[in-house]
Amino acid sequence: MTPSLLSDRIATLPKAELHLHLEGSIQPVTVCALTARHATVTTEEEVRRRYAYRDFPEFIEAFKWVTSFLREPRDYALIATDLGEHLLTQHVVYTEVTLSIGVMLLRKQQPEANFEALLRATESFENRGLRFRWVFDAARQFGADAAMEVVESAKRCNSEAIVAFGIGGYELNIPTKEFRRVYDRAAQFGLHRLIHAGEVGGPEKIREAIELLGVERIGHGITAINDPELMDLLAERKIPLEICPASNVKTGALARQLHRENATIEDHPLPKFLRHGIPVVLSTDDPAMFHTTLNEEYANAARMGLQEEELARIVEMGFEHAFSSAGERRGA
Ligand SMILES: [Zn+2]
Repeated sequence: MTPSLLSDRIATLPKAELHLHLEGSIQPVTVCALTARHATVTTEEEVRRRYAYRDFPEFIEAFKWVTSFLREPRDYALIATDLGEHLLTQHVVYTEVTLSIGVMLLRKQQPEANFEALLRATESFENRGLRFRWVFDAARQFGADAAMEVVESAKRCNSEAIVAFGIGGYELNIPTKEFRRVYDRAAQFGLHRLIHAGEVGGPEKIREAIELLGVERIGHGITAINDPELMDLLAERKIPLEICPASNVKTGALARQLHRENATIEDHPLPKFLRHGIPVVLSTDDPAMFHTTLNEEYANAARMGLQEEELARIVEMGFEHAFSSAGERRGA
């Protein structure tokens, strides 16, 4: 369904979705199927209650709860299949899906076995015009040694489908410089480098990520609106921000960055970033957990006052800033 506010042209353009967490994409009905597999009865109403947050820590709690039912490779296969079907409804032809490998390792799972199941589950989507690529993600709060293990597991999986290493989770608790050796190692393995920065943290988190870690795209980065010089730097170096508007409103990150009690979609700085010449890609982050879709995010961008040509330009940038070659992306 096309969200109101969005033209059919924008809604049906083939799109790339670059900031998307597999574990945040599990629709309530699938959560119920997953919990049932592990002998826990859950209703969709309960899942919806858990998928409502007042702030970022509450969101992380819900994320921990839902991922506690991801216990076997077949659980990952189930949710990836579900995600693929969902992405097709959004005209997504290329996606880089973030996997919480840090959480798998914490739970003493074998990332290689889970990843193998994911590859098998998503293979058939290639024939239907949707290409999956993967980002191996560490949780910042687990520390640099645990993050290094994530890089090592990417190496062990040894797949061209793994395009990047990234860090998410609590942004504020461990200094950026501690992760330098981890990013150096990721680069040695030929992985692109990502990080969530400037979502709830300040502009210095983005600067450090660029200068110390060599990151190539910034997850969220909305705090840049508080630092004109940083905005110039992002525009000059053409470092994209992965913008996820519904997420920023629902976690309270946007209100926090704007120093307000509340913030709405219309307050989002996306139009200012775009018109400042900063590359932006538009994404859903955790679509099930934030009750959004990629087309709904384009409708959100229209609510911020962006014009049709600007929305079309953002669609283009999704492909320009993807981590695989243009020919491969367009081949779908
Ligand atoms: Zn994210």
